[in-house]
Amino acid sequence: MKALQYTRVGSHPEVVEIEKPSPGPGQVLLKVTAAGVCHSDEYVMSLSEEEYTAAGYPLPLTLGHEGAGIVDELGEGVEHLAVGDAVAVYGPWGCGRCHNCSQGKENYCTNAQAEGIKPPGLGAPGSMAEYMIVDDARHLVPLGDLDPVENVSLTDAGLTPYHAIKNSLPKLGAGTYAVVIGTGGLGHVAIQILRALSGAQVIALDINDEKLELAREVGAHHTVISDESAADAIREITGGLGANAVFDFVGANPTIATAVAVAAAEADVTIVGIGGGTAHVGFGSVAFDAAIRVPYWGTRGELIEVLDLARAGQVGVEIQTYSLDDGPKAYEALAAGTIRGRAVIVP
Ligand code: NAD
Ligand code: ZN
Ligand code: ZN
Repeated sequence: MKALQYTRVGSHPEVVEIEKPSPGPGQVLLKVTAAGVCHSDEYVMSLSEEEYTAAGYPLPLTLGHEGAGIVDELGEGVEHLAVGDAVAVYGPWGCGRCHNCSQGKENYCTNAQAEGIKPPGLGAPGSMAEYMIVDDARHLVPLGDLDPVENVSLTDAGLTPYHAIKNSLPKLGAGTYAVVIGTGGLGHVAIQILRALSGAQVIALDINDEKLELAREVGAHHTVISDESAADAIREITGGLGANAVFDFVGANPTIATAVAVAAAEADVTIVGIGGGTAHVGFGSVAFDAAIRVPYWGTRGELIEVLDLARAGQVGVEIQTYSLDDGPKAYEALAAGTIRGRAVIVP
C-alpha cells in the first residue's frame, strides 16, 4: 500500500510503498478515508537529529494524527464494531487503565511514556496511508453520517481548541471578550466553538489578511493584524479592560507577549501553539489572578462532543483536499502559509 512517510531527519515527506498491515488481537484495521495535515507535523520534521531521537520518534514515520476510515478488518476479540463502520480516530492514545485514562483523559495518560504508547502519526504509523492500524476499539468514535473528509480534522483541529475553550467557559459569559491568535487550522475552528458555546465577543489575530477574512466568515466579531500594536488595538476594543480569555495558536515569543499583555484580571491565557516561545510571568507583568495554561489535545468524551457540534451544524472545517500522491504538496503549502483552513489528504 501507499503511505506518506518522513524517512530521514531533515528530509521532506515522501510517498512510499509499504506492506499493508494486519490487525493483531484487539486491534482494528481501517481503510483510511481522510487524513488531516497539522502544523505539528511540520514542527516534528523541523527537529534536529538529536531532538528527534530524544523525543522518541521513529524513522520512517508514517504521518497523520488526524484520521478517519472505514473498518476493514477486526482483530481477535474486538467487539461492538463491524466491518464497514465509518469512524474517526481519537489520536492521543493512552493506556486506558490509569486514573486520567479512566476519565477519558488519555491525552494526559500517566503510563504512556513508560509503556511506549504513542499517537498514530506521532510515533505509531499514522493515517496518511491507504490503511492504518488502530490499537484499540476504544480509540474509535462513530462518524455516522458525517462526511469523513469534511470532518476528519475535528479529531485535532477541532478537539484541541474545544478542550482549551471548554476549560475557560466559566469566564466567557455575556459581555466578555475572547482573543484567538492565529486563525489557521485550529484557530478558525476555535472561533466557531467560541461562538457556539460562549457569550464572548471574539477578537481574531493573524499576520495574513486572507486568514483574517476567513476568521470573519466563520464568526469573529473583530479582526486585528498581529503585530506590536495588536495589544493596543485589543485594549481599545475591550474598553481598556483586556480579554477574559486568550487562546494563542502560534505560541511564539511575540504572540505570547501579546497574549499576556491583553489578559484582563482573572483571565485565562492558553498557549496551544508550539512556536517555541515562553511567557514572562510575575507580579506586575501579568494581570491579577490571571492563569496561564498549556493544554495538549483533548479527551475522548470531548471528541464525541465536537462531532456532535458538527452534526448540529455549529462547527465546520474549511478544507483543501489533496491526493495521497500529492501529500508532499500539502506540506509545502502549509509551510508557505497558503492553506485556507485545513489541508486534508484523501487516499
Ligand atoms: P496553521 O499553520 O494552520 O495555522 C497557524 C496560523 O497562525 C496561520 O494562519 C498563520 O498565518 C498564523 N500566524 C503565524 N504567525 C503568526 C503571528 N505572529 N501572529 C498571528 N498569527 C500568526 O497551524 P495549526 O495546524 O492550526 O496549528 C497551530 C499551532 O498549534 C501549531 O504550533 C501546532 O503545532 C499547534 N498544535 C498544538 C496542539 C496541542 O495539543 N497543544 C495540537 C495541535 C496543534
Ligand atoms: Zn495536530
Ligand atoms: Zn493511561
